[in-house]
Amino acid sequence: MAQLFDSVRYLKGVGEARAKTFASLGIHTLYDLISYFPRTYEDRSRILPIAELQVDEPACFRAFVTSQPRTHHIRKGLDLTKLTVADETARLNLTFFNQSYVADNLEYSREYYFYGTLNGDYMGYQITNPIFEPVEKPGLLTRRIMPIYPLTAGLHNNLISRSVQQALEACLEELPELLPEALRTQYGLCDAVTAYRNIHAPASFEALAQARHRLIFEEFFIFSVGLSLLRASRGRKRREAFALPDQAEFEAALPFSLTGAQRRAIGEIAADLSGGSVMNRLVQGDVGSGKTVVAAAAAWITAKNGGQAALMAPTEILAEQHAQGLEKLLGPLGVRVALLTGSMTPAQKKTARAAIAGHEADLIVGTHALISEATDFARLDLVIADEQHRFGVAQRAALAEKGDDPHLLVMSATPIPRTLALILYGDLDLSVIDELPPGRQSIDTFLVGEDKRARINAFIRRQVSEGHQVYIVCPAIEEGEDESLRSAEAWAETLQMAVFPDLRVALLHGKMKSAQKEAAMAAFARGEQDILVATTVIEVGVDVPNATLMVIENADRFGLSQLHQLRGRVGRGAAKSYCVLFSSNRNPETLKRLRALCKTNDGFEISREDLALRGPGDFFGTRQHGLPAFKVGSLELDMQTLQDAQTAAADFVSSEELPGRPEYQPLMERIRALFATAEGT
Ligand code: ADP
Ligand code: MG
Repeated sequence: MAQLFDSVRYLKGVGEARAKTFASLGIHTLYDLISYFPRTYEDRSRILPIAELQVDEPACFRAFVTSQPRTHHIRKGLDLTKLTVADETARLNLTFFNQSYVADNLEYSREYYFYGTLNGDYMGYQITNPIFEPVEKPGLLTRRIMPIYPLTAGLHNNLISRSVQQALEACLEELPELLPEALRTQYGLCDAVTAYRNIHAPASFEALAQARHRLIFEEFFIFSVGLSLLRASRGRKRREAFALPDQAEFEAALPFSLTGAQRRAIGEIAADLSGGSVMNRLVQGDVGSGKTVVAAAAAWITAKNGGQAALMAPTEILAEQHAQGLEKLLGPLGVRVALLTGSMTPAQKKTARAAIAGHEADLIVGTHALISEATDFARLDLVIADEQHRFGVAQRAALAEKGDDPHLLVMSATPIPRTLALILYGDLDLSVIDELPPGRQSIDTFLVGEDKRARINAFIRRQVSEGHQVYIVCPAIEEGEDESLRSAEAWAETLQMAVFPDLRVALLHGKMKSAQKEAAMAAFARGEQDILVATTVIEVGVDVPNATLMVIENADRFGLSQLHQLRGRVGRGAAKSYCVLFSSNRNPETLKRLRALCKTNDGFEISREDLALRGPGDFFGTRQHGLPAFKVGSLELDMQTLQDAQTAAADFVSSEELPGRPEYQPLMERIRALFATAEGT
């Protein structure tokens, strides 16, 4: 009997060379090999009479060889071996290309199982290069659901399948059971041995589904428990507790009263800050739900305790806006706000940095890069990362290293379902702002084609004549290869020259210099421009309450959640606001997505829809999304299992005694091993 961690060289047919090829797939031990799961399966389990074979549908059949195989040498490099087979329903021609050795293996008048695909032409029906086995032999390649493994050069599927089978027989008994019986019973899961056997050699498709379910659950469960333990260990990092100032003082300084959800989030943050451990918290709330004031409260508590807070924004425009807004809010409360951005002059930066190092500033607002790079803080106690859905676990960890374990507050405007938030931000505690400030009107949203261009232009003009402002978002900056895409530069020019010569049209895109960008944004915010033609640089955070119309060109080129973010740039003031989506795309799926946006203003609902339609990979786009790769499970398809695993993980972690029980030790060891490597890299 072999050991799980014996080398694959233990197996028959695996020598030094093959062991090397296995190693290139990350397979060193027998355990690695049996954990190398099939990519897909071929159904070779159904056996049909020859007469019932269908063209182009692979199938198994049982037949006698009714003619002596003959090999014809057609030309150099092309040999054809032909023979006929028959069962009681029909005869059939078989052809093998360059496989004359089959002549030696197929004997006249013996019976075999074949697997192949029927093809028909003017010569009649035939099967080319079928797989076959004598009926007396066990079915390894026929009469079964055949696993298909991810391959590499030098390892063909049959070899992997045979090796896996050998390995299973040799060491299956020793397979550690990571999910104790009580847990398996509770969630209807099969045991590990059954799961491993059936994932490689499923007795039926039900057995395969059972095996997959168990393994997916296991994978999600391990991941969830691991993240919870990580969160708990971070949370246990001690830190001097802040004294909580009287929150009434803060609220009295606000121009509005807090929503219930804001008050709850602030309460959770205050509890963290005064709790004596490091805070790691994610505040998640829809566009316009008022996250800034929640961040402000955290900064205020920190300043009151003699610490500094840093607010990191994803763009300079946003940093600038935050600095202004927070200065207005917190200045009267005695919090000194400083700005630090790349476009400041060297002298300005020097002054700002001196103020930060000399503790003459309590809240420092800047871009991610500037704050995380060369800045020295006198006493950095709190880091706030705004609009951070593009920020992975690794970056957060790097940040925590900086400074003396500052508290961390992440603000995300992409409302995502709790299950996914737990995967993406599983190392953070979660606060949700699920309520908008009162009086918000919904933004009427329309999906239109080019035939409505003139009407929309008239509508733009009307908004401006009523004293409001308009955003127009284009998917491209400059005229480029893709002519079907509207570019901000060219469109701004066209609008100014030909459509609205009497209105003030401005341009904003990512290739402009920082100073230019800021100037353009500031002028728009001051109401000196009527129409701002922009790229998605305005996607996050920008706040100009007088803007009431958002027009999006080539709307089909954007993700739903991104469109929702863009739409969130309007409807920030008292006036009724609108969003117009231009698209000439007629694809039904695309239209369905865009119409979902017209139906609702609820970001949570939209992200659910987006996820259902596109799956999390696309949902987070090409941005660094930090989603882990799962071996068996799919975040798209196995949501329910994910949810169950997360529930089970929460129960497990919060239990006093379970983690200490002997039957859970294999699981705990596995988690320690997995998360140790994750931490180390
Ligand atoms: P978010 O960052 O969540 O998108 P902001 O913090 O920018 O939202 O807030 C959006 C707008 O709502 C701002 O103009 C802000 O002043 C206002 N606001 C925030 N909270 C309230 C509230 N409780 N009542 C009224 N207005 C609020
Ligand atoms: Mg914001």
